Amino acid sequence: MIDFASYEIVVGLEVHARLLTASKLFCADSNQYGAAPNTNVSPITLGHPGTLPRLNKKAVELAVKMGLACQCQINRENYFARKNYFYPDLPKGYQISQQTVPICSNGFVPITVEDKQKNIRLHRIHLEEDAGKSLHDVDEKYSCIDYNRAGTPLIEIVTEPDIRSSEEAYAFVNEIRKLVRYLDVCDGNMEEGSLRCDVNISVRPKGSHLLGTRVEIKNLNSVRHVKKAIETEAERLIHKIEAGHSIIQETRSFDVQIGTTHPIREKENEDDYRYFPDPDLPPLHLQESFIKNIRNEMPVLPQERIKKYMIDWQLSDYDATLITEEKAFADYFEQVILHTKNYKAAANWMLGPVKSWLNEQKKDIDALPILPEKLASVIQLIDEGKVNFSIASTAIFPQLLQNPSLSAAEIAQKQDLLQDSDMSSIEPVIDEILNTFADKVSAYQKGKKGLLAFFVGQVMKKTNGKADPQLTNTILLEKLNHYTKK
Ligand code: ADP
Ligand code: MG
Repeated sequence: MIDFASYEIVVGLEVHARLLTASKLFCADSNQYGAAPNTNVSPITLGHPGTLPRLNKKAVELAVKMGLACQCQINRENYFARKNYFYPDLPKGYQISQQTVPICSNGFVPITVEDKQKNIRLHRIHLEEDAGKSLHDVDEKYSCIDYNRAGTPLIEIVTEPDIRSSEEAYAFVNEIRKLVRYLDVCDGNMEEGSLRCDVNISVRPKGSHLLGTRVEIKNLNSVRHVKKAIETEAERLIHKIEAGHSIIQETRSFDVQIGTTHPIREKENEDDYRYFPDPDLPPLHLQESFIKNIRNEMPVLPQERIKKYMIDWQLSDYDATLITEEKAFADYFEQVILHTKNYKAAANWMLGPVKSWLNEQKKDIDALPILPEKLASVIQLIDEGKVNFSIASTAIFPQLLQNPSLSAAEIAQKQDLLQDSDMSSIEPVIDEILNTFADKVSAYQKGKKGLLAFFVGQVMKKTNGKADPQLTNTILLEKLNHYTKK
């Protein structure tokens, strides 16, 4: 029997994020995903002799933005290097990347797993161009190549080997995805390959401080695959070690269908790439004012928002985390908060009716027709005791979605939804119900206190949900305790 628990998993990730620029990293070809194959392919993209690259300023800006968000050191003096290798989807025979000096170094990204926070240190973030795409399933006999992707701008985010479980890796990639989307650095669309991940993994006996030999699993394009690949690969490595074999440093691929990895090549060494500074590109010097402007335009990031929501608005960690998942969603919530002091209710509305509607419609918050102040006015209507939550969410909210120009109070009035807080109209209803269910009343009096909910339900049914629930409760309790059958 293998004692898996006596091993520790060590993982470092390399995450490639396609930058949200209009054009490619070194030419004016469009960086739009999904264009017809080989339509965004100028001579520069195709690496024709005599063409010269020119750096895209916006791409530099986005790389710096990500670096600042991760507390990296921004390197002022940069140069680009050629990474040479042969591959059909690499028309120039080299990829322009950064080698010894990445645009950002160090820094960290905080993740939370099982309520524990941990910083995953970053080794570097560098800029590079992507390769084209080989398609093996378009034609029966031939592989096809689409060069649209060749030359599109990427940042590669490389962590230190700080990750210790598949759950931590999962949390890290999610956190990176959240960050790049907050910053508008990348759309984070993993299915379209906007965010791709290489997993470097080794195992070692627990307590050891030495790093084991690692393998690299290339090009995972979903967070679930990252998690699964780590789990199966760790198991494979441990089996190998237990059988007395040594681990070969190699590059592997994850087969999504069977959920296992297989080798694709032995890991090449740094010097196989014959890196050298690209003579066609001048060194890139970043000015202080350039960095300062980016810093000034940084949005408030999720971690900071979570803290604020918990401290200023007394939300739970759980609610705050869910609300800050998407920037636009959190922005909307903050707009609602400008119009109500009932923060908890605002959070419940966002995570309840609003989120359900968005999920049903498969839409983003931008598509919600209701203005934030209007949502706040629904909350106010409840707080004033004019309607209860169930009426508001099942009757008023859907009406507002249909007629966003109406006010919540108007809808309540028109549809006769206003709550009855008048004791003299609720009391006779309660009396009638107690008489009808006399047997249940005596059961209640003998100790089945849970029946209170049944009586409340009956009152709501009779009044079409309009009886003030609090008042109903009070009257019911009073009457149930003193009831004798007439
Ligand atoms: P390369 O450029 O060849 O892919 P790097 O040395 O830059 O290799 O490391 C790439 C990634 O591998 C980094 O995220 C790093 O943390 C991780 N890594 C390095 N050594 C190990 C190891 N022994 N076990 C797990 N991860 C490792
Ligand atoms: Mg690598």
